[in-house]
Amino acid sequence: MNPWHRSLARLLAVCFAVLPTFLFSAQAEAQAYVGQPKLIVIVVIDQFRGDYLNRDYAKFKGRGFKLFTDQGAWFTDCYYDYANTKTAPGHATIGTGAYSDGHGIESNEWWDASRSDMAKVSSVEDERYQLVDVPTTSIPANLPGAPPTALKYLIGSSPRNLRATTLGDELRLATQGRARVYGISLKDRAAILPAGQSANGAFWIDNLSGQFTTSSYYMEHLPEWAKAFNTGGRIEQAKKEANAEGTTLFYDLVGRTPAANSYELDFAKALITGEKLGQSGVTDLVTISLSANDIQGHQLGPDSDSQEQMILSLDRDLDSFFAWLDQTVGLKNTWIALTADHGISPIPADAAKLGIDSGLVNIGAVYDELNRALNLRYSPGQDVEYMMAGPELPYLVLNKHAFEKVHLEEKAAEDAVAALLPELVASQAPKPDGEVPVQHRLRPAPQVAGVYTRLQLAYGEVPPTEWGRELAHSYAYHGNWYVMLALGAYQMEDNRSTGGTTHFSPWSYDRHVPLAFYGMPFVPGEYHERVAPVDLAATFASLAGVNQPSASIGRVLTEAIKPNRLIGQ
Ligand SMILES: [Zn+2]
Repeated sequence: MNPWHRSLARLLAVCFAVLPTFLFSAQAEAQAYVGQPKLIVIVVIDQFRGDYLNRDYAKFKGRGFKLFTDQGAWFTDCYYDYANTKTAPGHATIGTGAYSDGHGIESNEWWDASRSDMAKVSSVEDERYQLVDVPTTSIPANLPGAPPTALKYLIGSSPRNLRATTLGDELRLATQGRARVYGISLKDRAAILPAGQSANGAFWIDNLSGQFTTSSYYMEHLPEWAKAFNTGGRIEQAKKEANAEGTTLFYDLVGRTPAANSYELDFAKALITGEKLGQSGVTDLVTISLSANDIQGHQLGPDSDSQEQMILSLDRDLDSFFAWLDQTVGLKNTWIALTADHGISPIPADAAKLGIDSGLVNIGAVYDELNRALNLRYSPGQDVEYMMAGPELPYLVLNKHAFEKVHLEEKAAEDAVAALLPELVASQAPKPDGEVPVQHRLRPAPQVAGVYTRLQLAYGEVPPTEWGRELAHSYAYHGNWYVMLALGAYQMEDNRSTGGTTHFSPWSYDRHVPLAFYGMPFVPGEYHERVAPVDLAATFASLAGVNQPSASIGRVLTEAIKPNRLIGQ
């Protein structure tokens, strides 16, 4: 064989060796551009701690949660890497693969001086838009036809504060708008934020009637399938299942029961059917945020029997929803992720009974003392309100106009407030000769684990530690002066009017959430590597062959992904 023949033979050998692999990869590779998968579903459970899947595992049946734990890639140690463990930032993080410093959402609501000095604005409210097709009983007082009982000025919503794209946005961009993206929840923020700026629609409920609505940001009227859902008797069925027949408080009385989850999942079926999702030849996306667990969890805590009943009921509902998906779009054509927007603390008294140094801190009393000290220093004899009303940890917002009047700039004002807080919080401890609540093995010791000014956070003046990185990820700015206050673990602001418990902290129980994937590309198994919710969007984007969202810092979870040649088998 001469050299030329040898070269030709080598070339042919290489071609024959590579060709089958190349053809197979081209056929089987997942790509959003060719509709592989046909549909991505992101299931978010509002307030669902990562340990719940272990705690109730033995009681799960069918292919609800077990679709993920037994047939999917289940990450048992997924923790948010920031301190803003609340609904709006959590949902924004799931969609964008970024934290507050990337997506701009640090809380559910905040003071925005450029829009109102009278009231906080919510993370998604947008006065430029209207809610559409709300029932006459819910027409707000500012519109014609409002009933005498109408109290609120209800305005539309949009992703106006979201500063990063989502996985859905990137699917839309990659397919020049052919991919369709929707978000569903009982809550507006939880429907809007994970879906993104370019979503085709986001649907949530009118709190009084339970009817699904949307904002004129997306459309002028509800689609026919949504109108049919609203008038088809499903609301009455949900009320009946919740033992709340005849109620006009759907969100409060039905929303806190398992009936709300099946109600939302039925709406998701109506959406997927009505919009023919998964049939367009590109990859469509729907985010479903299930709110009931959060509404009940705040009231009864994570360890109540009712909470377990809610979880087991949701297990059955997910089983039937996934069975329906299998019969319609086909599970082999669908990728599904499961996660949550935040965890939850045990009820402080329950933790205290076991000896944990937990407790409630009366932030209202701290505010009174703070104002007293600031008046003494800057405006003696006066009663100036130096803090904006409605403290909501972890952020305490300064009344900058009050400080400006006494000629203090932001740095001096924030430094002054930050310096006063540790002692004032500690002073909320029961007095030495006072009565210690009997359930406490230790005397309650309210404490500040850290207090940081906005300027410190803005300039990255945080400790060079894991804790400092969490703080840096938490930073966002809406024109306010503020300080960020972290209480000790298992301590929370006193909210005696509602009792129960809450989430807002940088501690593990608020940051631990499930993360699990089901679908063709994933290697089933239990993964104990520490991961984060930002990895969800990054992983799906990588598998779908599209750009990661604009501010994504997620890691592609390659350990749970099959080698390329196996995708599609
Ligand atoms: Zn939430």
